[in-house]
Amino acid sequence: MTKPDNPNKTRFGFETRMIHAGAAPEPVTGARQTPIYQNTSYVFHDADHAASLFNLQSFGFIYSRLANPTVAVLEERLASLENGRGATCCASGHAAQILTFFAFMEPGDEFVASNKLYGGSLTQFGKTFKKFDWHAHLVDTDDLAAVRAAITPKCKALFVESLANPGGVVSDLEPLAEIAHQAGLVFIVDNTLATPYLCQPFDWGADLIVHSTTKFLSGNGTSMGGAVIDSGTFDWGQNDKFGGLTAPEPAYHGLTFYETFGDLAFTTLSHMVGLRDLGATMAPMNAFQTLLGIETLSLRMERHCANAQDVAEFLAGHELVAWVSYAGLESDPYHGRAQKYLGGRAGSVFTFGVNGVTGGYEMGMRVVESCELFSHLANVGDARSLILHPASTIHRQLTDEQRDTAGAGPDVVRLSIGLETLDDLLADLDQALHRAAAEGDKAAE
Ligand SMILES: *Cc1c(COP(=O)(O)O)cnc(C)c1O
Repeated sequence: MTKPDNPNKTRFGFETRMIHAGAAPEPVTGARQTPIYQNTSYVFHDADHAASLFNLQSFGFIYSRLANPTVAVLEERLASLENGRGATCCASGHAAQILTFFAFMEPGDEFVASNKLYGGSLTQFGKTFKKFDWHAHLVDTDDLAAVRAAITPKCKALFVESLANPGGVVSDLEPLAEIAHQAGLVFIVDNTLATPYLCQPFDWGADLIVHSTTKFLSGNGTSMGGAVIDSGTFDWGQNDKFGGLTAPEPAYHGLTFYETFGDLAFTTLSHMVGLRDLGATMAPMNAFQTLLGIETLSLRMERHCANAQDVAEFLAGHELVAWVSYAGLESDPYHGRAQKYLGGRAGSVFTFGVNGVTGGYEMGMRVVESCELFSHLANVGDARSLILHPASTIHRQLTDEQRDTAGAGPDVVRLSIGLETLDDLLADLDQALHRAAAEGDKAAE
């Protein structure tokens, strides 16, 4: 199942790399934890050194918009955990998506993306990308024929989430990668909700992985961040779609990124052109907080998934709950894919619908407002359990049809299950459901 020839794999196990990859004791003081290099700029050895850095003839730190030593440790760590060749961190998950497409999209270009994505991504692709004259064809990526049919000659990429936010959808990465590669497209997977602990998209044919590190990777709701990781195995020269990597770059004395940097072409371009000109750099403090989070990623994900499984089973058997969409449930249509792609676990973000005499929209909002332990807010992947009514919040900017296809219809409630004592989570949801139902009955009288 794993590509035995992946040259990026090392002999160390996942948990060892969570703690050590990219980091070493700081050489001057011996400080063991990665220092926060709260620095904008770095002294050149001499004029020749400065010139060679600016010419991309040697690698080194120039200015923190391009690269920073603390951020670089996080980049190496994420590249290692995903078994990729290189990574570029940036200010948020959305910045990572812009940075990724910016490397190869020109005005008028198109790509195909799943219509079941995080609501913010649907808005970014459907509205803001149009200002760059970039066009997304949003399709049901469970329908492979529809994916094939959506690919036009101007398409350059296929984009899906491994585990989709919020609907609990698991994408069928292997055949999707095949379709993308047959058409000469780069296959991009957002691995935010699965994390590299549950899913390794490069093993299934992904070429680039994007993350919102804001979520499980930082893990405590402290730090915005994003990353794009390159497998280093995509052939950018196979067709004429990827001129950003294969055409001479005038700003760097006409060098060609793919010819000069090979399997590091995308990562070098993302720093030296993407971050240079888009400027969506990750702050060193955020990189430090994210590194701390990653040190416990496997332990937290085990607990997140175990708690989520029990909460989903509790809700599935609850008289006031109409349905639960969680791939960990045996009855769930995505259960089989969770076995294949997520090691049998299903993450900790999922949705359910509430039964009620009044409309689902009202009931959904009432349940959210009746919770005491769950925090009502727009985030996922926190140590704290979170609850949200997508239709009235994060999916508000979408049309009714877009909301329904994204799994965020009027009755949908989204949970992100945290690390608390399970019984406390069950008790809070139970009392919230009963309180919401009682209020609904009263309103209907
Ligand atoms: C949160 C999220 C994003 C956007 O990330 P930000 O860090 O909020 O910009 C993208 N994709 C998924 C799946 C997310 O959950």
